[in-house]
This record gives sequence, structure tokens and C-alpha cells, in this order.
Amino acid sequence: MGGYFGAVAKSDVVMDVFFGTDYHSHLGTKSGGLTLWDREKGFNREIHSITNTPFRTKFEKEIIDIVGTSGIGCINDTDPQPLLVRSHLGLYAIMVTGIINNAEALATNYLKSHEGQFMALSSGKINQTELAAAIINEQDSIVNGIKHLRDVIDGSLTLMILTDRGEIIAARDKYGRIPVHIGRKEDGYCVAFESFAYKKLGYSDARELGPGEIVKLTPDEIIELEPPGKEMRICAFLWSYYGYSNSCYEGVNVEVMRYRNGELMARNEEHNRTMPEVDYVAGVPDSGIAHAIGYAAESGIPYARPLIKYTPTWPRSFMPENQNVRNQVARMKQIPVDELIRGKNLLFIDDSIVRGTQLRETVDFLYESGAKEVHVRSACPPVMFACKYLNFSRNNSVMGLMARKTIQEIEGDEGSSHLTEYADGSTERGQCLCRTISKRLGFDSLGFQSLDGLLEAIGLPREQICTYCWTGKE
Ligand code: SF4
Repeated sequence: MGGYFGAVAKSDVVMDVFFGTDYHSHLGTKSGGLTLWDREKGFNREIHSITNTPFRTKFEKEIIDIVGTSGIGCINDTDPQPLLVRSHLGLYAIMVTGIINNAEALATNYLKSHEGQFMALSSGKINQTELAAAIINEQDSIVNGIKHLRDVIDGSLTLMILTDRGEIIAARDKYGRIPVHIGRKEDGYCVAFESFAYKKLGYSDARELGPGEIVKLTPDEIIELEPPGKEMRICAFLWSYYGYSNSCYEGVNVEVMRYRNGELMARNEEHNRTMPEVDYVAGVPDSGIAHAIGYAAESGIPYARPLIKYTPTWPRSFMPENQNVRNQVARMKQIPVDELIRGKNLLFIDDSIVRGTQLRETVDFLYESGAKEVHVRSACPPVMFACKYLNFSRNNSVMGLMARKTIQEIEGDEGSSHLTEYADGSTERGQCLCRTISKRLGFDSLGFQSLDGLLEAIGLPREQICTYCWTGKE
């Protein structure tokens, strides 16, 4: 994934960009970058790896010496950015969030016709921000370049450009998979993925960009360069998993959606008589917690926190790429409350079951800590497809997905023709999937929120929400 923050004002915005970007730290683990612009001093850019050290710690010393009345910052899981680009469109800084699935083909085509070059990353891959800039620069203006970029990529990109006049151009991806919020204060504007980031910095809501919309921000105004498109497919996972609890997307708050989602799950279980007899309902920290609060409130079963995260030295919500390290970090973070586990029957709600590895570790750990029964509920349907629109680190290969792997085991290739049935807990195949995953991961029972329930909890028109992860439909 990735997060971003930019600001432009008549006064210095360095601290706004620094703290605003830092408030997006839950959206990326690999790289952080800032570019500030000052009328006298021009551009000043810093990029650091944030794999082992949080963004703020990496930038806090150098930020003190930087000045700027506009700037952009980002946190991401992919390539170092923002990049500074010199082209016939001027000197500008650019950052992108999303994914270009056909990057190799686009780069090959580009090199055939331009005889230029790309600076390969240490992985040998091309930095997709550099590729995006090269494609934008093929056109006669930045706006035409962004539109051209959207037409040729397979994937989805949201981007920010900081021009050599200190203006910010913000462009939401074509179908609005991720949000772009504009905030306003006395002498300027900001742009952010997470709206709570700018509210904490004294900005108020100006507006949210529509899908595909492009705007230019100056200290005085928001200038529309390209109107929003009609179709939107905002990512449903924003609410169920990776969005921050305080945030609203398209006017729907994350925390409130999760309460509602938990309530709907409980109501459905009561109706179907599948609710297990347990002592407590709990959420897998962090994003499972709010779903569990909603479930507990509706069912009347007491809510408890049998596992509490140790946050002073493990403050980040994402974890390292390497699975073994990630498992170890997960183990280190979770501290049990023995009195709430030993001899108890527990219902644990997780935001989703993607690969299932961490959940298995958590449940094993609960049994080792003396739990009698551990029932698991996923706050969204079984994930059946890998995301192809965002660089969403949790599900990047279909057969790495717990549901697909299990279906393959149950009935081989034939299973992929019955994914809709498998995703529906009221069908024989759906129940078989739950039983088989439960057995494999050691749960006493397993249930999934239905797609209808998830969409009802979000509350936006169905056709405006991306559900590709679950349905495979674009
Ligand atoms: S495929 Fe899944 S993770 Fe990707 S944008 Fe759609 S809902 Fe979100």
C-alpha cells in the first residue's frame, strides 16, 4: 500500500508535511520520502528506508533545517519516492500510490521508441514512479500526461506532483480505489489519504476528490483540471482492514462501519442459530477489535481483550515482508491475559482471513495459554482473488490465499468453478470450506461475514465498491 500528504500555503508547511506524512505510517513499511519547495531555495528532497525505524525517527533531525511553503510526502511498500524529474514539462517532484501490472511491457515499449533509460532498482525492477513520469512526459501537459498514463496502465495509480512553481497537482486513480481528501486552513490547502491527519494539524475538510479527478492546489484555491468520472470502485478493504479507525471515506467512518459489520454478523448468526456458546467475544488486534465490539453489543456476549498488543516497542500495524520474521513479531506483540483465557470458550473476530498464517499462530497461542474452545469469525467473506489494483501486501498470489488453497485441496481444479458457492456459508460447499479451514488451523468453528453483510455495513451503493478480492468481478 502507501499513504501520502501534501500541503501548499503562504506560510511554511514543513512541519505539516512532516507530521501529515507520519500519520500515514500504518499504510507502508518500506520507504518514506519528503520533497519541500521554497521560492528561494527550490526543491529539497529526502528519502529513507523505514523498514526498521519509524518515519518520524528517520526524518526528525534533518527536517529542522528545511524550509518550504509547499511539499509532498509519502510512505510506501514499493519504490523510493518522491522522484525529482526534469523534462520538457519543467522540473517537478512526483509520487505515486498503486500498481502498474504491465510495467515491464510499458518500459520495453518506451525504450524502443525513445532510446532513453530507466534507473533499475537494486531488485532489477524499474521504479514505477520513474516509469509513470516518463509516460506523463510523452504528452504536451501534465494533465494530458496523467490522462495518457491512466489509459495505458493495467492497474491503478493515484499521484501527486509538486511543480517548480510550488503548486500541487493531485490526481485520484481512475476508479477511485483509494481516497484523496483535500483540507483547508487559513492560508492554504493540503491533500491526504487519511483525513484525520490534516484535522489534527488544524485543517478542516474542503472536499474529497471524485474518481479520476485531477486538481491543482495553490495557497489561494483548488483549481479543477479534470472533472471526476462517473464510475467509482472504492476499495472495500479500506473499511474492513487497512483504513485508520478515525478516517471517513466517501463519508463513511471506519470505526462505525466496523461496529455495524460486527452487529450484522451477530444478527445473522442468531438468525441461523450458528452462534457458539462462549464466555467472551474478542477481536484480533488491531482491526478485528471494532468488529468484535459490534458483535458483542448485538449478541449480548461480554466483550473482552484476552490478547493485548505490546505497543511501546512494537508500535506499527504492518509487519516485515519476511514471513518468519513477521510470525515472530506477531508472537512478540501479543501478550495474553491469563484470567480471560484459561478454561474459557472464546469467539475471536479477525478483519479477514487471507493467508491464515498469523491467525493460526494466534489461535495456537490461545490454546497453549489454556483456552478451552476458540471459535473464529472473519469480518469479510473468504478472499478468493489477489488484488490487482493496489500494492496490497497481504494477498499477492491466488494460491497463497487460504480459501483458494483449501478449495484446491477439497476438489482440485473443479473447485474454481464453484467459488460463489464456497463463499456462501449457507451452501454445502461454503460449510465444507469452513470445516476444512477450521480443521487445518485448529479452530473449533469458523464463519465468514457475507458479501451482502459487508456491503450493508459500508452502506454505499454496491456498484461503487470494489469487491474484486471476493468475487473476481471488476
Ligand atoms: S481487489 Fe480487493 S484490495 Fe484491491 S482494491 Fe479491490 S477490494 Fe481493495
